[in-house]
Amino acid sequence: MSSFEHLHLEIPKSDKQRIVIIGGGFGGIQLVKTLQKSNFQIVLLDRHNYHTFQPLLYQVATAGLEPDSIAGALRQLFARHKDFYFRMARVTGIDSERKVIKTLVGELEYDLLVIANGSKTNYFGDKEMYNRTFPMKQIPQALDLRSHMLQNFEQTVLSKEDEEKDRLTNFVIVGGGPTGVEVAGALGELKKHVLPNDYPDIDFDIMKLHLVDAGPRLLAGMSEKSSAKAELYLKDFDVDVRLNTRLVSYDGRDVVLTDGTVIPAKTVIWAAGVTGNIMDGLPKESIGGGRIIVNEFNEVKGLQDVFALGDIAGMYTAQTPKGHPMVAPVAIQQATNLGKNLMRAQKGKSLKPFVYKDKGSMATIGRNRAVVDLPKFHFGGLFAWMVWMFIHLMSIVGFRNRLVILANWVWNYLTYDRGTRLIIRTFVRNKDYKPGDTL
Ligand SMILES: Cc1cc2nc3c(=O)[nH]c(=O)nc-3n(C[C@H](O)[C@H](O)[C@H](O)COP(=O)(O)OP(=O)(O)OC[C@H]3O[C@@H](n4cnc5c(N)ncnc54)[C@H](O)[C@@H]3O)c2cc1C
Repeated sequence: MSSFEHLHLEIPKSDKQRIVIIGGGFGGIQLVKTLQKSNFQIVLLDRHNYHTFQPLLYQVATAGLEPDSIAGALRQLFARHKDFYFRMARVTGIDSERKVIKTLVGELEYDLLVIANGSKTNYFGDKEMYNRTFPMKQIPQALDLRSHMLQNFEQTVLSKEDEEKDRLTNFVIVGGGPTGVEVAGALGELKKHVLPNDYPDIDFDIMKLHLVDAGPRLLAGMSEKSSAKAELYLKDFDVDVRLNTRLVSYDGRDVVLTDGTVIPAKTVIWAAGVTGNIMDGLPKESIGGGRIIVNEFNEVKGLQDVFALGDIAGMYTAQTPKGHPMVAPVAIQQATNLGKNLMRAQKGKSLKPFVYKDKGSMATIGRNRAVVDLPKFHFGGLFAWMVWMFIHLMSIVGFRNRLVILANWVWNYLTYDRGTRLIIRTFVRNKDYKPGDTL
């Protein structure tokens, strides 16, 4: 038992039913918005005090955007909401019999509980990969990768050994989904247009980008046409795309692939997939396929008054035997439907099952290039890239963020420059500090 479990999260008592929402991600914030005028008390919990716009994390990692512009402070987002409470708290478990959730800062009772805590990087149980590779799921992780990458180039300038230079400038990206493809494209862009100006002492022919995927094609969730185009675009950036290939081992120095290739690399980016953030206290029957099993009303199997939505929710039906894809529109649409259903239920009205409206998917690969799949047709190139930019700009939380991102993109486009190539590592206090020491 953690020492905080006896503590209690103080939220004012109310005559209204209390809905506790775990997670201020795409689903969580959409649910709060949908319930704004409802007759519920809303409590939103998140381990961070901000919402993360994950689709642009790779731009933070590759020094294209500063972290603040892809985050939205949760308190500010809902400052005008009545009967709304935000608490920054990491939820550790659920006690559905007592109708409480457990957090690192105390327990909280709920009348209705919505689990929207998303997914986490899937290392498939491999602790070595967890310890040695770079994930890209949270802002601190993206910033860490940015600093690491830039530190590698600084070291390359200093290094006198060719093998070490190779190791410092090689990048291996594991996973050819949208994240892997977009990171590879952004690194290709850096190599071609940006880094040679910063580091004139480095011959950038030595910087090699490798993208490894176990499947037969990139962007497996998209059309074959888009997969083929994405591969072509990446090859223009000299990205070495290796399909039907897995990473066998990585000791922090050398990557070994299933085809026997050994790549010396200090940077391995793990974009091989995600799995549900399952928390303690859920009955076994509620969990399946790495997610929480829900019905078409987002009700959790085997539990009363508990719902789940977004990445964490496995809505397994005859039409969706593997559940819905783990993408933002699913989380947003489920949150809208659930919010409306909760209000309908309060008024004694019947509930509507969730139906996903798939409006399409897209991925970008460097400047001027993207692939877009709409339900009826696919396209790529410059127009796709403009569609990609427009959709992402309109989806980002906050008007200020939109302006900052637009300004950054215009600047990057016109100047081939990127404004945030800073190495910023965690501040570590000197334990042996004595007054008078130079700081
Ligand atoms: C790099 C990357 C790129 C992506 N690109 C796209 C894209 O281009 N298009 C697209 O549609 N989708 C994309 N996705 C997927 C999309 O981001 C997710 O499908 C979406 O975020 C799911 O929304 P959600 O509300 O379920 O979870 P999330 O948005 O992940 O939100 C979960 C929230 O729960 C919080 N949380 C987690 N655990 C706890 C805990 N124990 N206690 C308290 N709070 C907790 C987290 O801090 C987070 O705020 C991308 C994902 C990644 C990682």
